[in-house]
Parts: sequence; C-alpha cells; structure tokens
Amino acid sequence: MLHSKEDCIFCKIVNGEIPAKKVLENDKFLSFYDLNPVAKVHVLIIPKNHISNIAHLNENNADYIAGILSFAKEVAKELGISKDGYRLIFNTGEKAGQTVFHMHAHMLGGEELSWPNP
Ligand code: 5GP
Ligand code: ZN
Repeated sequence: MLHSKEDCIFCKIVNGEIPAKKVLENDKFLSFYDLNPVAKVHVLIIPKNHISNIAHLNENNADYIAGILSFAKEVAKELGISKDGYRLIFNTGEKAGQTVFHMHAHMLGGEELSWPNP
C-alpha cells in the first residue's frame, strides 16, 4: 500500500514517469483508462495535485477540487457515454476498497451497470 506522495503512482502518471492512456486533461484534472477495467468503459479522473482522498479535503484544496464533477461531465461527453449514463465512484479509505491513495473518481459506463456492485 503506497501512501506517500513520493511513491504515488498517480502523481507519476501526472508527471509522465508512468505512461497512461489519457482521455482528457486541463490545468487541474486528468483522466485516463483504468489498467484493470471492471466495466466496458472504465476511466479514472484525478486532480493533478496530490490529495489522498475526500477525507483529506480542507479549506486549502476544497475550492481546487470543486470542478472535478464539471470535468467528469466533459470526460463523459468525450467518451460518448453521456446520453446512456455512467457511474462515478470515489473509494475513500481502505475498507471502501481504496488502493491508490491519490484521490480519484472511477467513471464506469458503456454498458448496463448492476447496482450496488459494479
Ligand atoms: P482504488 O482501488 O484505489 O479505488 O482504484 C485504483 C485503481 O487504479 C484500480 O482500479 C486500478 O486498476 C487502477 N490502477 C492501479 N495502478 C494503475 C496504473 O499504473 N495505471 C492505470 N491506468 N491504472 C492503475
Ligand atoms: Zn499522488
């Protein structure tokens, strides 16, 4: 389990040390395909700055992160899944299944999704 910013896989994707199949990016956010997809379309959406998860949002980064849903909307459009629908999931903490401690939304779509488990 990697918790420090220095060892963070997603920071390495942001700075280009680790390759990823990118979908869209802007100055604040980046989206790329998940390495092990659990749905027909499975993309990760992350803030470029390192924040470990929602539990670590505070007055310094909450404004910064507020745009992630607007960015997600653009990602869905880019992927062509806006009309049919998609699911955003923020696993927050180990017991919720978070394995990479750099805040991210899973965007799942491209097919009929079961509920509650993808
Ligand atoms: P979590 O379990 O923390 O909510 O989600 C982490 C996700 O990151 C997993 O779905 C996993 O497949 C994905 N992942 C882990 N390492 C890499 C990587 O190096 N590249 C990409 N594209 N996805 C990764
Ligand atoms: Zn990071």
